[in-house]
Amino acid sequence: MKYSKLVEVYEDLENTSSKLKKTEIIAEFLEKTNVDELAKITLLVQGKIFPGWSEKEIGIALQTMMKVISSSLGIDASRVEQEFKKTGDLGLVAEKLMGKKKQTTLFKKDLSADKVFENLKKLADIEGKGTQNIKIQIVSELVAHASAKEAKYIVRTTIGDMRIGVAEGIVRDAVAKAFLKDEDWKEAVKAVERAWFVRPDYGEVAQIAKESGLKGLSGVKLEIGKPYHVLLSEKAPSMEKALDSYEKIVVEVKYDGARLCIHKKDEKVWLFTRRLENVTKQFPEVVSWAKTNIKSNNCIIEAEMLGFDGKTKQPLPFQFLSQRIKRKYDIEKIAKDIPVQINIFDITYLDGKVLFNEILEKRLELLKNVVKPIAGKFQLVKGIRTKDIEKVEEFYKKALSDSQEGVMVKNLEAIYQPGRRVAGGWLKVKPTMENLDLAIIGAQWGTGKRTGWLGTLMLGCRDEKSGKFMSCGMIGTGIKEKSSGIEGNIDVTFKQLTKLLKPNIESESGVNLKIRPKVVIEVAYEEIQRSTNYESGFALRFPRVIRLRTLDKSAEQCDTLERIRRLYKMQKGGV
Ligand code: AMP
Repeated sequence: MKYSKLVEVYEDLENTSSKLKKTEIIAEFLEKTNVDELAKITLLVQGKIFPGWSEKEIGIALQTMMKVISSSLGIDASRVEQEFKKTGDLGLVAEKLMGKKKQTTLFKKDLSADKVFENLKKLADIEGKGTQNIKIQIVSELVAHASAKEAKYIVRTTIGDMRIGVAEGIVRDAVAKAFLKDEDWKEAVKAVERAWFVRPDYGEVAQIAKESGLKGLSGVKLEIGKPYHVLLSEKAPSMEKALDSYEKIVVEVKYDGARLCIHKKDEKVWLFTRRLENVTKQFPEVVSWAKTNIKSNNCIIEAEMLGFDGKTKQPLPFQFLSQRIKRKYDIEKIAKDIPVQINIFDITYLDGKVLFNEILEKRLELLKNVVKPIAGKFQLVKGIRTKDIEKVEEFYKKALSDSQEGVMVKNLEAIYQPGRRVAGGWLKVKPTMENLDLAIIGAQWGTGKRTGWLGTLMLGCRDEKSGKFMSCGMIGTGIKEKSSGIEGNIDVTFKQLTKLLKPNIESESGVNLKIRPKVVIEVAYEEIQRSTNYESGFALRFPRVIRLRTLDKSAEQCDTLERIRRLYKMQKGGV
Protein backbone atom coordinates (compact mmCIF):
# COMPACT_ATOMS: atom_id res chain seq x y z
CA MET A 1 0.00 0.00 0.00
CA LYS A 2 1.19 3.50 -0.73
CA TYR A 3 1.98 5.50 2.39
CA SER A 4 0.08 8.40 0.87
CA LYS A 5 -3.17 6.40 1.26
CA LEU A 6 -2.53 6.12 4.97
CA VAL A 7 -1.70 9.80 5.10
CA GLU A 8 -5.12 10.64 3.63
CA VAL A 9 -6.68 8.65 6.47
CA TYR A 10 -4.57 10.44 9.07
CA GLU A 11 -5.69 13.77 7.66
CA ASP A 12 -9.34 12.75 7.76
CA LEU A 13 -8.93 11.58 11.34
CA GLU A 14 -7.25 14.79 12.36
CA ASN A 15 -10.02 16.81 10.80
CA THR A 16 -12.85 15.33 12.83
CA SER A 17 -13.36 15.17 16.56
CA SER A 18 -16.34 12.83 16.33
CA LYS A 19 -15.53 9.37 17.68
CA LEU A 20 -18.19 7.84 15.50
CA LYS A 21 -16.76 9.43 12.39
CA LYS A 22 -13.25 8.33 13.30
CA THR A 23 -14.54 4.77 13.80
CA GLU A 24 -16.14 4.86 10.37
CA ILE A 25 -13.02 6.21 8.70
CA ILE A 26 -10.83 3.49 10.19
CA ALA A 27 -13.37 0.71 9.59
CA GLU A 28 -13.68 1.59 5.94
CA PHE A 29 -9.93 1.74 5.55
CA LEU A 30 -9.26 -1.56 7.32
CA GLU A 31 -11.91 -3.24 5.26
CA LYS A 32 -10.11 -2.24 2.09
CA THR A 33 -6.71 -3.37 3.37
CA ASN A 34 -5.27 -6.70 2.18
CA VAL A 35 -5.18 -9.32 4.87
CA ASP A 36 -1.39 -9.70 4.68
CA GLU A 37 -0.93 -5.99 5.41
CA LEU A 38 -3.68 -5.70 7.98
CA ALA A 39 -1.63 -6.27 11.12
CA LYS A 40 0.88 -3.55 10.18
CA ILE A 41 -1.74 -1.11 8.96
CA THR A 42 -3.80 -1.50 12.12
CA LEU A 43 -0.76 -0.56 14.16
CA LEU A 44 0.20 2.31 11.85
CA VAL A 45 -3.28 3.77 11.92
CA GLN A 46 -2.84 4.14 15.68
CA GLY A 47 0.58 5.70 15.10
CA LYS A 48 2.25 2.59 16.48
CA ILE A 49 4.99 0.33 15.22
CA PHE A 50 4.88 -2.07 18.15
CA PRO A 51 1.88 -3.27 20.13
CA GLY A 52 1.45 -1.51 23.46
CA TRP A 53 2.95 -4.37 25.45
CA SER A 54 6.15 -4.68 23.46
CA GLU A 55 9.28 -3.51 25.25
CA LYS A 56 10.63 -2.27 21.94
CA GLU A 57 10.94 1.44 21.40
CA ILE A 58 11.86 3.55 18.40
CA GLY A 59 14.06 5.60 20.71
CA ILE A 60 14.20 8.92 18.88
CA ALA A 61 13.61 11.97 21.03
CA LEU A 62 12.44 15.40 19.91
CA GLN A 63 15.93 16.84 19.80
CA THR A 64 17.20 14.06 17.53
CA MET A 65 14.17 14.41 15.31
CA MET A 66 15.01 18.07 14.81
CA LYS A 67 18.43 16.94 13.57
CA VAL A 68 16.74 14.51 11.18
CA ILE A 69 14.62 17.29 9.73
CA SER A 70 17.50 19.67 9.38
CA SER A 71 19.82 17.08 7.82
CA SER A 72 17.30 15.56 5.44
CA LEU A 73 16.16 18.97 4.20
CA GLY A 74 19.52 20.66 4.38
CA ILE A 75 18.09 23.37 6.61
CA ASP A 76 19.84 24.98 9.54
CA ALA A 77 19.01 23.34 12.91
CA SER A 78 18.26 26.72 14.47
CA ARG A 79 15.57 27.33 11.83
CA VAL A 80 13.90 24.02 12.72
CA GLU A 81 13.99 24.93 16.38
CA GLN A 82 12.57 28.36 15.67
CA GLU A 83 9.63 26.87 13.76
CA PHE A 84 9.05 24.30 16.48
CA LYS A 85 8.73 27.02 19.08
CA LYS A 86 5.83 28.49 17.09
CA THR A 87 3.60 25.40 17.03
CA GLY A 88 5.12 22.77 19.33
CA ASP A 89 4.36 20.22 16.61
CA LEU A 90 7.41 18.83 14.86
CA GLY A 91 5.23 17.11 12.27
CA LEU A 92 3.90 20.47 11.13
CA VAL A 93 7.41 21.89 11.10
CA ALA A 94 8.56 19.12 8.75
CA GLU A 95 5.54 19.66 6.52
CA LYS A 96 6.03 23.39 6.32
CA LEU A 97 9.78 23.37 5.72
CA MET A 98 9.52 20.54 3.25
CA GLY A 99 6.65 22.15 1.41
CA LYS A 100 8.89 25.05 0.56
CA LYS A 101 11.77 22.83 -0.42
CA LYS A 102 9.81 20.38 -2.54
CA GLN A 103 8.80 23.08 -4.93
CA THR A 104 12.26 22.85 -6.38
CA THR A 105 13.13 19.18 -6.01
CA LEU A 106 11.04 16.35 -7.39
CA PHE A 107 10.76 13.41 -5.11
CA LYS A 108 12.03 10.14 -6.39
CA LYS A 109 9.56 7.37 -5.84
CA ASP A 110 6.34 6.52 -4.04
CA LEU A 111 6.87 5.62 -0.43
CA SER A 112 5.10 2.46 0.71
CA ALA A 113 3.48 2.01 4.12
CA ASP A 114 5.52 -1.15 4.44
CA LYS A 115 8.80 0.71 3.93
CA VAL A 116 7.88 3.27 6.62
CA PHE A 117 6.85 0.50 9.00
CA GLU A 118 9.95 -1.64 8.44
CA ASN A 119 12.39 1.25 8.64
CA LEU A 120 10.92 2.50 11.90
CA LYS A 121 10.82 -1.05 13.23
CA LYS A 122 14.53 -1.46 12.52
CA LEU A 123 15.32 1.47 14.81
CA ALA A 124 14.41 -0.46 17.94
CA ASP A 125 17.05 -3.10 17.29
CA ILE A 126 19.97 -0.77 16.73
CA GLU A 127 22.36 -0.83 19.63
CA GLY A 128 25.93 0.04 20.48
CA LYS A 129 28.37 2.54 19.07
CA GLY A 130 27.05 5.13 16.67
CA THR A 131 23.41 4.17 17.37
CA GLN A 132 22.09 7.70 17.13
CA ASN A 133 23.79 8.41 13.82
CA ILE A 134 22.50 5.22 12.25
CA LYS A 135 19.00 6.01 13.49
CA ILE A 136 19.21 9.54 12.11
CA GLN A 137 20.27 8.11 8.75
CA ILE A 138 17.38 5.66 8.58
CA VAL A 139 14.70 8.22 9.41
CA SER A 140 16.33 10.85 7.19
CA GLU A 141 16.12 8.44 4.30
CA LEU A 142 12.38 8.13 4.85
CA VAL A 143 11.86 11.85 5.21
CA ALA A 144 13.95 12.55 2.13
CA HIS A 145 11.71 10.30 0.04
CA ALA A 146 8.50 11.71 1.45
CA SER A 147 6.12 14.39 0.31
CA ALA A 148 5.50 17.23 2.74
CA LYS A 149 2.31 15.64 4.13
CA GLU A 150 3.99 12.24 4.39
CA ALA A 151 6.89 13.80 6.28
CA LYS A 152 4.42 15.27 8.76
CA TYR A 153 3.22 11.81 9.77
CA ILE A 154 6.58 10.04 9.56
CA VAL A 155 7.86 12.58 12.06
CA ARG A 156 4.83 12.25 14.30
CA THR A 157 4.94 8.43 14.25
CA THR A 158 8.65 8.40 15.00
CA ILE A 159 8.33 10.60 18.08
CA GLY A 160 5.05 8.96 19.16
CA ASP A 161 2.89 12.07 19.00
CA MET A 162 0.20 11.43 16.38
CA ARG A 163 -2.42 14.05 17.30
CA ILE A 164 -5.17 12.21 15.43
CA GLY A 165 -7.19 11.20 18.49
CA VAL A 166 -7.38 7.46 17.93
CA ALA A 167 -7.86 5.75 21.27
CA GLU A 168 -8.02 1.98 21.68
CA GLY A 169 -11.81 2.01 22.00
CA ILE A 170 -12.09 3.51 18.51
CA VAL A 171 -9.89 0.82 16.98
CA ARG A 172 -11.93 -1.87 18.76
CA ASP A 173 -15.17 -0.52 17.34
CA ALA A 174 -13.62 -0.06 13.91
CA VAL A 175 -12.46 -3.69 13.78
CA ALA A 176 -15.97 -4.84 14.76
CA LYS A 177 -17.54 -2.56 12.19
CA ALA A 178 -15.20 -3.64 9.40
CA PHE A 179 -15.25 -7.38 9.85
CA LEU A 180 -18.30 -8.39 11.87
CA LYS A 181 -20.94 -6.50 9.91
CA ASP A 182 -23.52 -9.25 10.04
CA GLU A 183 -23.30 -9.84 13.78
CA ASP A 184 -25.21 -8.17 16.57
CA TRP A 185 -23.25 -4.95 17.25
CA LYS A 186 -22.87 -5.43 21.00
CA GLU A 187 -21.79 -9.04 20.59
CA ALA A 188 -19.33 -8.07 17.90
CA VAL A 189 -17.69 -5.39 20.04
CA LYS A 190 -17.55 -7.76 22.99
CA ALA A 191 -15.91 -10.45 20.89
CA VAL A 192 -13.25 -8.06 19.57
CA GLU A 193 -12.58 -6.78 23.06
CA ARG A 194 -12.38 -10.25 24.56
CA ALA A 195 -9.90 -11.34 21.93
CA TRP A 196 -7.88 -8.20 22.61
CA PHE A 197 -7.83 -8.91 26.36
CA VAL A 198 -6.02 -12.18 25.71
CA ARG A 199 -4.03 -11.01 22.66
CA PRO A 200 -3.51 -7.28 23.22
CA ASP A 201 -2.62 -6.25 19.70
CA TYR A 202 -5.40 -4.94 17.48
CA GLY A 203 -3.21 -5.77 14.48
CA GLU A 204 -3.46 -9.48 15.23
CA VAL A 205 -7.09 -9.22 16.33
CA ALA A 206 -8.08 -7.45 13.09
CA GLN A 207 -6.40 -10.13 11.03
CA ILE A 208 -8.23 -12.90 12.90
CA ALA A 209 -11.55 -11.04 12.60
CA LYS A 210 -11.10 -10.61 8.85
CA GLU A 211 -10.03 -14.20 8.26
CA SER A 212 -12.35 -16.09 10.57
CA GLY A 213 -14.93 -13.72 12.06
CA LEU A 214 -16.66 -14.24 15.37
CA LYS A 215 -15.66 -17.87 15.58
CA GLY A 216 -12.00 -17.08 15.11
CA LEU A 217 -12.13 -14.35 17.73
CA SER A 218 -13.77 -16.53 20.34
CA GLY A 219 -11.07 -19.12 19.79
CA VAL A 220 -8.22 -16.70 20.56
CA LYS A 221 -6.09 -18.27 23.27
CA LEU A 222 -3.48 -16.76 25.46
CA GLU A 223 0.09 -17.54 24.62
CA ILE A 224 2.99 -17.99 26.99
CA GLY A 225 5.42 -15.11 26.59
CA LYS A 226 2.73 -12.65 25.56
CA PRO A 227 0.87 -10.61 28.17
CA TYR A 228 -2.91 -10.51 28.62
CA HIS A 229 -5.22 -8.10 30.40
CA VAL A 230 -5.70 -9.39 33.92
CA LEU A 231 -8.84 -9.86 35.99
CA LEU A 232 -9.59 -6.79 38.10
CA SER A 233 -11.40 -6.24 41.35
CA GLU A 234 -14.35 -4.15 42.40
CA LYS A 235 -14.55 -2.12 45.57
CA ALA A 236 -16.82 -3.49 48.28
CA PRO A 237 -18.99 -0.99 50.12
CA SER A 238 -18.21 -2.69 53.44
CA MET A 239 -16.67 -5.81 54.87
CA GLU A 240 -20.09 -7.24 55.78
CA LYS A 241 -21.38 -6.75 52.26
CA ALA A 242 -18.23 -8.30 50.80
CA LEU A 243 -18.59 -11.40 52.95
CA ASP A 244 -22.26 -11.69 52.02
CA SER A 245 -21.60 -11.38 48.33
CA TYR A 246 -20.50 -14.94 47.67
CA GLU A 247 -21.31 -18.42 48.94
CA LYS A 248 -17.78 -19.68 49.25
CA ILE A 249 -14.96 -17.24 49.85
CA VAL A 250 -11.32 -16.81 50.58
CA VAL A 251 -10.13 -13.59 52.20
CA GLU A 252 -6.59 -12.67 51.21
CA VAL A 253 -4.25 -9.88 52.17
CA LYS A 254 -4.35 -7.13 49.57
CA TYR A 255 -0.69 -6.28 49.25
CA ASP A 256 0.39 -2.79 48.32
CA GLY A 257 2.69 -3.47 45.42
CA ALA A 258 2.55 -4.22 41.71
CA ARG A 259 0.76 -7.00 39.89
CA LEU A 260 3.13 -9.39 38.18
CA CYS A 261 2.32 -12.15 35.71
CA ILE A 262 5.06 -14.73 35.63
CA HIS A 263 5.22 -16.80 32.44
CA LYS A 264 7.48 -19.82 32.33
CA LYS A 265 8.25 -22.10 29.42
CA ASP A 266 11.12 -24.53 29.89
CA GLU A 267 14.10 -22.41 30.86
CA LYS A 268 12.55 -19.14 29.71
CA VAL A 269 10.74 -16.74 32.03
CA TRP A 270 8.85 -13.54 31.22
CA LEU A 271 7.52 -11.01 33.70
CA PHE A 272 4.68 -8.66 32.80
CA THR A 273 3.01 -5.91 34.79
CA ARG A 274 -0.69 -5.19 34.84
CA ARG A 275 -0.07 -2.54 32.20
CA LEU A 276 1.45 -5.29 30.07
CA GLU A 277 4.98 -3.94 30.30
CA ASN A 278 7.68 -6.56 29.98
CA VAL A 279 9.84 -6.14 33.11
CA THR A 280 11.77 -9.40 32.89
CA LYS A 281 15.17 -7.68 32.73
CA GLN A 282 14.42 -5.49 35.73
CA PHE A 283 13.84 -8.35 38.18
CA PRO A 284 16.56 -10.99 37.70
CA GLU A 285 16.00 -12.45 41.17
CA VAL A 286 12.34 -13.14 40.37
CA VAL A 287 13.35 -14.84 37.13
CA SER A 288 15.70 -17.10 39.03
CA TRP A 289 13.09 -17.97 41.72
CA ALA A 290 10.62 -18.78 38.96
CA LYS A 291 13.16 -21.10 37.34
CA THR A 292 13.94 -23.00 40.52
CA ASN A 293 10.69 -22.77 42.48
CA ILE A 294 7.91 -23.21 39.97
CA LYS A 295 7.60 -26.92 39.46
CA SER A 296 5.90 -26.76 36.06
CA ASN A 297 7.84 -25.86 32.94
CA ASN A 298 4.81 -24.58 31.13
CA CYS A 299 2.64 -22.21 33.14
CA ILE A 300 1.54 -18.67 33.99
CA ILE A 301 1.07 -17.57 37.58
CA GLU A 302 -0.01 -14.22 39.01
CA ALA A 303 1.36 -12.43 42.03
CA GLU A 304 1.65 -9.12 43.82
CA MET A 305 5.23 -7.94 44.05
CA LEU A 306 6.21 -5.91 47.09
CA GLY A 307 9.20 -3.63 47.46
CA PHE A 308 11.27 -3.46 50.65
CA ASP A 309 13.86 -1.15 52.02
CA GLY A 310 17.08 -3.16 51.69
CA LYS A 311 18.46 -1.67 54.93
CA THR A 312 15.49 -1.47 57.29
CA LYS A 313 13.60 -4.43 55.74
CA GLN A 314 10.41 -2.34 56.00
CA PRO A 315 7.85 -2.51 53.17
CA LEU A 316 8.14 0.48 50.86
CA PRO A 317 5.29 2.33 49.18
CA PHE A 318 4.61 1.50 45.56
CA GLN A 319 6.52 4.53 44.23
CA PHE A 320 9.82 2.85 45.13
CA LEU A 321 8.93 -0.31 43.32
CA SER A 322 8.06 1.75 40.29
CA GLN A 323 11.68 2.97 40.25
CA ARG A 324 12.73 -0.64 39.77
CA ILE A 325 10.12 -1.16 37.10
CA LYS A 326 11.45 1.79 35.13
CA ARG A 327 15.15 1.13 35.69
CA LYS A 328 17.09 0.01 32.64
CA TYR A 329 20.66 0.13 34.04
CA ASP A 330 22.44 -0.63 37.34
CA ILE A 331 19.87 -3.33 37.92
CA GLU A 332 22.03 -5.17 40.45
CA LYS A 333 22.46 -2.09 42.63
CA ILE A 334 18.81 -1.14 42.75
CA ALA A 335 17.91 -4.79 43.38
CA LYS A 336 19.97 -4.55 46.58
CA ASP A 337 18.44 -1.22 47.62
CA ILE A 338 14.89 -2.33 46.91
CA PRO A 339 14.59 -6.11 47.23
CA VAL A 340 11.21 -7.58 46.33
CA GLN A 341 8.87 -10.18 47.68
CA ILE A 342 6.52 -12.15 45.45
CA ASN A 343 3.09 -13.02 46.85
CA ILE A 344 1.40 -15.48 44.53
CA PHE A 345 -2.38 -15.67 44.26
CA ASP A 346 -3.49 -17.21 40.95
CA ILE A 347 -2.64 -19.49 38.06
CA THR A 348 -4.08 -19.04 34.57
CA TYR A 349 -2.21 -21.56 32.46
CA LEU A 350 -0.74 -24.96 33.20
CA ASP A 351 0.85 -27.57 30.97
CA GLY A 352 -0.84 -26.51 27.77
CA LYS A 353 -4.22 -25.74 29.30
CA VAL A 354 -5.75 -22.29 29.75
CA LEU A 355 -7.39 -22.16 33.19
CA PHE A 356 -9.74 -19.18 32.64
CA ASN A 357 -12.76 -21.44 32.84
CA GLU A 358 -11.70 -23.21 36.01
CA ILE A 359 -13.16 -21.91 39.27
CA LEU A 360 -10.84 -20.23 41.74
CA GLU A 361 -10.98 -23.12 44.20
CA LYS A 362 -9.58 -25.44 41.54
CA ARG A 363 -6.98 -22.91 40.40
CA LEU A 364 -5.74 -22.45 43.95
CA GLU A 365 -5.40 -26.19 44.35
CA LEU A 366 -3.31 -26.38 41.19
CA LEU A 367 -1.29 -23.37 42.31
CA LYS A 368 -0.39 -25.04 45.61
CA ASN A 369 1.04 -27.99 43.72
CA VAL A 370 3.03 -25.87 41.34
CA VAL A 371 4.75 -23.42 43.70
CA LYS A 372 7.57 -24.43 46.00
CA PRO A 373 7.61 -21.41 48.32
CA ILE A 374 10.70 -19.57 49.55
CA ALA A 375 9.58 -17.90 52.80
CA GLY A 376 9.65 -14.11 52.62
CA LYS A 377 10.63 -14.10 48.96
CA PHE A 378 8.47 -16.26 46.75
CA GLN A 379 5.39 -17.38 48.57
CA LEU A 380 1.64 -17.89 48.37
CA VAL A 381 -0.49 -14.99 49.63
CA LYS A 382 -1.83 -15.12 53.14
CA GLY A 383 -5.51 -15.98 53.17
CA ILE A 384 -8.27 -17.36 55.37
CA ARG A 385 -11.39 -19.22 54.40
CA THR A 386 -14.05 -18.05 56.81
CA LYS A 387 -17.07 -15.80 56.90
CA ASP A 388 -16.75 -15.15 60.61
CA ILE A 389 -16.73 -11.35 60.70
CA GLU A 390 -14.61 -11.16 63.85
CA LYS A 391 -11.91 -13.38 62.43
CA VAL A 392 -11.97 -11.51 59.15
CA GLU A 393 -11.79 -8.11 60.89
CA GLU A 394 -8.81 -9.32 62.85
CA PHE A 395 -7.13 -10.54 59.66
CA TYR A 396 -7.89 -7.19 58.03
CA LYS A 397 -6.44 -5.17 60.91
CA LYS A 398 -3.30 -7.28 60.85
CA ALA A 399 -2.95 -6.65 57.11
CA LEU A 400 -3.25 -2.90 57.71
CA SER A 401 -0.80 -2.89 60.57
CA ASP A 402 1.64 -4.77 58.31
CA SER A 403 1.41 -1.70 56.02
CA GLN A 404 -0.71 -3.51 53.44
CA GLU A 405 -3.72 -2.03 51.68
CA GLY A 406 -6.53 -4.18 53.04
CA VAL A 407 -8.03 -7.48 51.94
CA MET A 408 -9.41 -9.14 48.83
CA VAL A 409 -12.59 -11.13 49.26
CA LYS A 410 -12.68 -13.68 46.46
CA ASN A 411 -15.42 -15.91 45.19
CA LEU A 412 -14.04 -19.44 45.22
CA GLU A 413 -16.64 -20.45 42.64
CA ALA A 414 -15.82 -17.79 40.06
CA ILE A 415 -13.97 -18.34 36.81
CA TYR A 416 -11.19 -16.00 35.64
CA GLN A 417 -12.39 -13.25 33.32
CA PRO A 418 -9.45 -11.42 31.75
CA GLY A 419 -9.50 -7.65 31.55
CA ARG A 420 -12.64 -7.16 33.55
CA ARG A 421 -13.82 -5.69 36.79
CA VAL A 422 -16.36 -8.34 37.55
CA ALA A 423 -18.78 -8.18 40.39
CA GLY A 424 -18.82 -11.95 40.67
CA GLY A 425 -15.10 -12.34 41.19
CA TRP A 426 -12.99 -10.26 43.53
CA LEU A 427 -14.03 -7.56 45.97
CA LYS A 428 -11.44 -5.35 47.57
CA VAL A 429 -11.93 -3.95 51.04
CA LYS A 430 -9.60 -1.15 51.94
CA PRO A 431 -9.95 1.79 54.24
CA THR A 432 -8.25 4.56 52.35
CA MET A 433 -10.22 7.04 50.37
CA GLU A 434 -8.97 8.96 47.37
CA ASN A 435 -6.00 11.07 48.43
CA LEU A 436 -6.49 14.79 48.90
CA ASP A 437 -4.11 17.60 48.00
CA LEU A 438 -4.24 20.06 50.86
CA ALA A 439 -2.49 23.28 51.77
CA ILE A 440 -0.52 23.65 54.98
CA ILE A 441 -2.07 26.58 56.85
CA GLY A 442 -0.63 26.16 60.34
CA ALA A 443 1.93 24.24 62.37
CA GLN A 444 3.43 23.65 65.77
CA TRP A 445 7.10 23.58 66.67
CA GLY A 446 8.30 20.06 67.39
CA THR A 447 9.64 18.87 70.72
CA GLY A 448 12.24 16.30 71.80
CA LYS A 449 14.05 14.86 68.79
CA ARG A 450 12.07 17.20 66.60
CA THR A 451 13.08 20.43 68.31
CA GLY A 452 13.85 23.14 65.78
CA TRP A 453 11.58 21.59 63.19
CA LEU A 454 7.97 22.26 62.42
CA GLY A 455 6.21 19.14 63.65
CA THR A 456 2.47 18.83 63.57
CA LEU A 457 0.88 20.60 60.62
CA MET A 458 -2.57 22.07 60.14
CA LEU A 459 -4.19 21.07 56.86
CA GLY A 460 -6.50 23.36 54.94
CA CYS A 461 -8.90 22.96 52.05
CA ARG A 462 -10.15 25.87 49.95
CA ASP A 463 -13.68 27.15 50.23
CA GLU A 464 -14.53 27.95 46.64
CA LYS A 465 -17.20 30.48 47.60
CA SER A 466 -15.13 32.68 49.90
CA GLY A 467 -11.69 31.71 48.54
CA LYS A 468 -10.61 31.18 52.17
CA PHE A 469 -8.66 28.21 53.45
CA MET A 470 -10.48 26.16 56.08
CA SER A 471 -8.76 23.84 58.50
CA CYS A 472 -9.63 20.15 58.20
CA GLY A 473 -7.18 18.24 60.37
CA MET A 474 -3.73 17.99 61.90
CA ILE A 475 -1.04 15.79 60.45
CA GLY A 476 2.35 14.51 61.63
CA THR A 477 2.40 10.98 60.25
CA GLY A 478 4.30 10.13 57.11
CA ILE A 479 6.92 12.83 57.61
CA LYS A 480 10.36 11.31 57.99
CA GLU A 481 13.16 12.35 60.30
CA LYS A 482 15.70 11.23 57.72
CA SER A 483 15.38 10.59 54.03
CA SER A 484 15.91 6.94 53.07
CA GLY A 485 18.82 7.96 50.84
CA ILE A 486 17.56 5.89 47.95
CA GLU A 487 18.01 7.73 44.69
CA GLY A 488 14.88 9.48 43.48
CA ASN A 489 13.07 8.91 46.78
CA ILE A 490 10.01 10.97 47.50
CA ASP A 491 10.25 11.03 51.28
CA VAL A 492 9.04 14.23 52.89
CA THR A 493 11.29 15.16 55.80
CA PHE A 494 10.71 17.55 58.73
CA LYS A 495 13.80 19.46 57.70
CA GLN A 496 12.57 19.92 54.15
CA LEU A 497 9.10 21.01 55.28
CA THR A 498 10.50 23.43 57.85
CA LYS A 499 12.64 25.07 55.18
CA LEU A 500 9.64 25.46 52.90
CA LEU A 501 7.24 26.70 55.56
CA LYS A 502 9.41 29.03 57.64
CA PRO A 503 9.34 31.96 55.18
CA ASN A 504 5.54 31.73 55.17
CA ILE A 505 4.97 32.05 58.89
CA GLU A 506 2.37 34.78 59.32
CA SER A 507 1.93 34.92 63.07
CA GLU A 508 2.68 32.99 66.21
CA SER A 509 0.54 32.50 69.29
CA GLY A 510 1.90 30.16 71.93
CA VAL A 511 2.95 26.95 70.24
CA ASN A 512 0.67 27.54 67.31
CA LEU A 513 1.84 29.16 64.11
CA LYS A 514 -0.33 30.54 61.38
CA ILE A 515 1.13 29.83 57.95
CA ARG A 516 0.35 31.46 54.64
CA PRO A 517 -1.05 28.75 52.33
CA LYS A 518 1.73 28.14 49.82
CA VAL A 519 2.79 24.55 50.31
CA VAL A 520 0.54 21.71 49.12
CA ILE A 521 0.90 18.10 50.23
CA GLU A 522 -0.88 14.97 49.13
CA VAL A 523 -2.56 13.29 52.04
CA ALA A 524 -3.98 9.78 52.47
CA TYR A 525 -6.46 9.04 55.25
CA GLU A 526 -8.90 6.40 56.37
CA GLU A 527 -12.12 8.31 56.60
CA ILE A 528 -13.67 11.77 56.60
CA GLN A 529 -15.52 12.56 59.81
CA ARG A 530 -17.73 15.42 60.88
CA SER A 531 -15.95 17.63 63.39
CA THR A 532 -16.54 20.82 65.29
CA ASN A 533 -12.81 21.22 65.94
CA TYR A 534 -12.06 22.53 62.49
CA GLU A 535 -13.43 25.44 60.46
CA SER A 536 -14.38 23.19 57.54
CA GLY A 537 -16.63 21.10 59.79
CA PHE A 538 -14.70 17.99 58.77
CA ALA A 539 -11.69 16.08 60.03
CA LEU A 540 -9.57 13.46 58.36
CA ARG A 541 -9.10 10.24 60.29
CA PHE A 542 -5.53 8.91 60.40
CA PRO A 543 -4.14 11.29 57.80
CA ARG A 544 -0.61 10.66 56.52
CA VAL A 545 1.63 12.59 54.19
CA ILE A 546 2.20 10.92 50.84
CA ARG A 547 4.23 13.51 48.95
CA LEU A 548 4.89 17.17 48.39
CA ARG A 549 2.93 18.76 45.56
CA THR A 550 4.87 22.03 45.55
CA LEU A 551 6.17 21.48 42.06
CA ASP A 552 2.86 20.92 40.36
CA LYS A 553 0.20 22.56 42.49
CA SER A 554 -0.28 25.98 43.94
CA ALA A 555 -2.40 26.45 47.07
CA GLU A 556 -5.19 27.82 44.86
CA GLN A 557 -5.33 24.45 43.13
CA CYS A 558 -5.63 22.36 46.27
CA ASP A 559 -8.77 20.34 47.01
CA THR A 560 -11.90 22.20 47.95
CA LEU A 561 -14.33 22.01 50.82
CA GLU A 562 -16.91 21.03 48.25
CA ARG A 563 -14.88 17.96 47.27
CA ILE A 564 -14.46 16.92 50.90
CA ARG A 565 -18.20 17.27 51.37
CA ARG A 566 -18.80 15.11 48.29
CA LEU A 567 -16.36 12.43 49.42
CA TYR A 568 -17.97 12.43 52.84
CA LYS A 569 -21.38 11.84 51.32
CA MET A 570 -20.07 9.09 49.05
CA GLN A 571 -18.46 7.39 51.98
CA LYS A 572 -21.72 7.54 53.94
CA GLY A 573 -23.60 6.16 51.01
CA GLY A 574 -21.17 3.30 51.08
CA VAL A 575 -20.11 3.55 47.46
P1 AMP B 1 -7.05 -2.20 42.62
O1 AMP B 1 -5.81 -1.85 41.86
O2 AMP B 1 -7.24 -1.39 43.84
O3 AMP B 1 -8.25 -2.34 41.74
O4 AMP B 1 -6.81 -3.68 43.18
C1 AMP B 1 -6.45 -4.74 42.37
C2 AMP B 1 -4.96 -5.02 42.51
O5 AMP B 1 -4.64 -5.45 43.81
C3 AMP B 1 -4.50 -6.17 41.65
O6 AMP B 1 -4.27 -5.76 40.32
C4 AMP B 1 -3.23 -6.58 42.33
O7 AMP B 1 -2.15 -5.85 41.81
C5 AMP B 1 -3.41 -6.14 43.77
N1 AMP B 1 -3.43 -7.23 44.76
C6 AMP B 1 -2.81 -7.21 45.95
N2 AMP B 1 -3.03 -8.32 46.64
C7 AMP B 1 -3.82 -9.10 45.88
C8 AMP B 1 -4.41 -10.38 46.07
N3 AMP B 1 -4.25 -11.10 47.18
N4 AMP B 1 -5.19 -10.86 45.06
C9 AMP B 1 -5.39 -10.14 43.92
N5 AMP B 1 -4.85 -8.93 43.70
C10 AMP B 1 -4.08 -8.40 44.67
